[in-house]
Amino acid sequence: MEVRRETEELEPDELVPVKFHGEMRPSPKGLTATLLPFQVEGQSWMYAQETKKEIKGGILADEMGMGKTLQTIAVICDNRSKLQHCKPGAKSPPEATFQDREAANMEEKLWADALKEWKHEMEMQNVPKKVQPRAGPQRGGTLVICPVIALTQWKTEIEKFCAENALTVGTYHGPNRVSDMPTAMLSKYDVVLTTYQVVEADFRKLVSPNKVSCPNCGQKFKIDKLRVHLKYFCGEYAEKTEAQARQRRSAARPGQRRNDHDDDHSFSESSSENQDDDIHHNKTGKPGLRSPAPLSSGHQLP
Ligand SMILES: [Zn+2]
Repeated sequence: MEVRRETEELEPDELVPVKFHGEMRPSPKGLTATLLPFQVEGQSWMYAQETKKEIKGGILADEMGMGKTLQTIAVICDNRSKLQHCKPGAKSPPEATFQDREAANMEEKLWADALKEWKHEMEMQNVPKKVQPRAGPQRGGTLVICPVIALTQWKTEIEKFCAENALTVGTYHGPNRVSDMPTAMLSKYDVVLTTYQVVEADFRKLVSPNKVSCPNCGQKFKIDKLRVHLKYFCGEYAEKTEAQARQRRSAARPGQRRNDHDDDHSFSESSSENQDDDIHHNKTGKPGLRSPAPLSSGHQLP
């Protein structure tokens, strides 16, 4: 009832965009692109959301090609962390102005709040001490989480719209990401690009690190995944659904992996990220999982 009343009372005119009335931001240092007036408005609104509000954040939604990425890059340049590379409580340099000190104190408080949140989150998720980062949480730059196909685009746009080395960019992605990009390195970049799948997989690893072995093939699984594995994939009575069989056939199709483009990246990503998802299991040579026999499409779920 409540919901219906709310939707009925919604006037289409209320959805017409309102102008942002806050302070308009100047073009930030490091940005070489010139923003259109509505993009300056977007940048200024996002800056205000990040700095002036009790509740931070917001959603910038617009049609394709309107420069949402550019506006976001502008905000990243505009609201850079001043204390990213400082130890907690580090003193301001003697030449710092009163405003500099004020800003530093404000940011110090934000980092302290973030640290508190982090500790609380680790506790709430029951993350064992031994899988938590050894050096504790690190201060870092801006984390951009995007679809795999947008990784390159983000990097290109930052290079295109900013002065050389105005923003350092690191990409955290791929099966060797942890060895290629250790935490100490990640925290140094101004911008770190990553994907939804990586964040999801890393988070899952953190919150449920314990796996059990399959009694048939010895492969390690999370307990809930093992149930699926045994039912549909492993052992004498395993059955595959039509969709699973199809997905495996397409995964096994040659040529797909030879595609030297982003798509390939995305493909190998999904196969490595979903190591627990048997559907994408194409890295293991374990018997029972990689049966070369043609998959019957007659098998259906009951
Ligand atoms: Zn098995």
